[in-house]
Amino acid sequence: MRFIATLEHSPDNCWAREENQDKAVEWITQLDQRAEEHGVELDGAYATPTEHQFYFIMQADSFGAVTGFLGPPFGEDHDGHVAPVLTLDESIDAVIED
Ligand SMILES: [Zn+2]
Repeated sequence: MRFIATLEHSPDNCWAREENQDKAVEWITQLDQRAEEHGVELDGAYATPTEHQFYFIMQADSFGAVTGFLGPPFGEDHDGHVAPVLTLDESIDAVIED
């Protein structure tokens, strides 16, 4: 199943702040390894630094894999939304009765 996550931290706890930079660089540079460890296939990972937000498009067999991937320390500093999504073709099959 494909998931899209939109997560943000507060300006007061920005991951670009000096006190968070080591944590941020370590987490970001180990992103692919962390995804593999949790059984998550990353389709895309993006950030808008001026909005303090991260966006992830990923595939996993379970929601638990996604929450593991986005867990501490990232999960401790970020709030947001994680939703399972369908392609538009899949959504037609899901909501339109034959
Ligand atoms: Zn920030």
